[in-house]
Amino acid sequence: MSERIFIGVAWPYANGPLHLGHIAGAYLPADIFARYHRLKGNKVLMVSGSDQHGAPITIRAEQEGTSPQEVATKYHQQFTDCWKRLGISFDLFTSTGTSNHTQVAHDVFLSLLERGYIYRDKMLQAYCPKCQRVLPDRYLEGTCPNCGFARARGDECDECGRPLNPVELKDLRCHICSTPPRFESSEHFFLRLSAFQEKLAAWIKEQSQWRHHVISTTWKFLNEGLKDRAITRDLDWGIVVPQAGFERKRIYVWFEAVIGYLSASKEWAKSQGDDSAWQAFWRGDARSFYFIGKDNIFFHTLVWPAMLMGYGGLNLPYDVPANEFLTIEGRKLSTSRGWAIWLPDYLERYEPDPLRYAVAANMPETGDSDFSWHEFLRRNNNELVATYGNLAHRVLTFTYRNFDGAVPAAGELDERSLGLVNAAETTMGSVDRLLYRCEFKEALKQAMSLAQEGNRYLDEQAPWKTIKTERQKSARCVYTVLSVLAVLKTLLYPFLPFSSERLHYFLGFDGSVKDRGWGIQTVPPGQRLRQPEPLFVKLDEDIVAKESSRLHLPGEG
Ligand SMILES: [Zn+2]
Ligand SMILES: [Zn+2]
Repeated sequence: MSERIFIGVAWPYANGPLHLGHIAGAYLPADIFARYHRLKGNKVLMVSGSDQHGAPITIRAEQEGTSPQEVATKYHQQFTDCWKRLGISFDLFTSTGTSNHTQVAHDVFLSLLERGYIYRDKMLQAYCPKCQRVLPDRYLEGTCPNCGFARARGDECDECGRPLNPVELKDLRCHICSTPPRFESSEHFFLRLSAFQEKLAAWIKEQSQWRHHVISTTWKFLNEGLKDRAITRDLDWGIVVPQAGFERKRIYVWFEAVIGYLSASKEWAKSQGDDSAWQAFWRGDARSFYFIGKDNIFFHTLVWPAMLMGYGGLNLPYDVPANEFLTIEGRKLSTSRGWAIWLPDYLERYEPDPLRYAVAANMPETGDSDFSWHEFLRRNNNELVATYGNLAHRVLTFTYRNFDGAVPAAGELDERSLGLVNAAETTMGSVDRLLYRCEFKEALKQAMSLAQEGNRYLDEQAPWKTIKTERQKSARCVYTVLSVLAVLKTLLYPFLPFSSERLHYFLGFDGSVKDRGWGIQTVPPGQRLRQPEPLFVKLDEDIVAKESSRLHLPGEG
């Protein structure tokens, strides 16, 4: 029976280009998972959008001397373009700047207010006497009380990932001019997170399918005791507060951004011409998966579930397969210091599949992992080109030339050939189970080891020799490898959609890989192949030096 799978992917701030950390953290694993479930014939709704609000956008607008709206629009367009070119297959990628999102955010706000989960209170807020402005948390900087990092932000420590309140920081100062702020009292709305402590604890105890690091991070926050959090701020950029007397304040970005999962689902439903279509993904036995980086765990395993519990009637997350961090050439990624690989740059110079492969093969699922250009080159040249690409190209060109451009009849398979066909079936089963459990790295490894086995078989059978003396034996070998390729293009489609589609085409199939679904497909004898071309391009050694020189570190910018 077909399952319904909701996939929510972290909302990127529209304040700068996407980089490899984003891709490894959330977008690539989400896309692999979505493509896999679609192949399985399950109903998938994968949504996200650009986060247009919050201090990251206004800070960038001030730096660039432009308006927050212009910044948001520019990067939203860039994101959409990158998804298309990298093959991240959202059902909807919207933004928090839509009137639909404002409506849904207001609905959630007012429902929680009515039930007493949101209340008014006074709080102290930072004011910079030199800049003469209220300082949102991100405009504050200080020393993290948890890890001692000297440049923690007012809302979160970049180093250890702990969410913070400005008053907890030591040596607090204005991010713009470094003046210590003074604190003034102001009235705001608060989410009564403390009211959900017991209920969340009971719910999290049941989530044995979550990754260990997600569970342990969540318990760390729970054990410290959940504190109520302010959900409005003195700002003029963001979603208005639907209450009189709050005209000069806005809803705080973390509160409304998570509501984006729901508002995007409703927007998608409208675009399908059925306003209620979203419900099938949010109620009953549909399962929700949230793909995020580990710095976002708190908001997705505690805050958003608490908001959903308070709102009522909607599914809580089934899994939050957060990834850990990706380092670049052994160093922590830093966008402000230029230690990052930008997606638009990459896509200008290389094909999408080698990046998808290199990142998936070393995905930070259970611990931080590193991306280096040397490793990228090695994976492209030794694994994609020399293993998988070579297997496909050797057999396709050989068959095309020697068997009249069509799949030959194999006759009865011998034990060795049958063994390989069986191994392909077994691999399909194990990759299926691994993808279902979001174990992407291992799934890819097993698929690639089938390609290795295919190469061993091909070398050993040497159909280019037998063609002269035992044509039937040569045909049997070719047929067996073509069958394995038909399995590989399916297994690898979630990871390498572009080359899988090409292989599908060269093998003589019509339409798309996804039309055929997940399962063993036979290559019928007599099926016409299409003029084969290499699936991947070998890269020159000198890209390592060239690309590494683009990274810079000392100082800002
Ligand atoms: Zn200042
Ligand atoms: Zn810290």
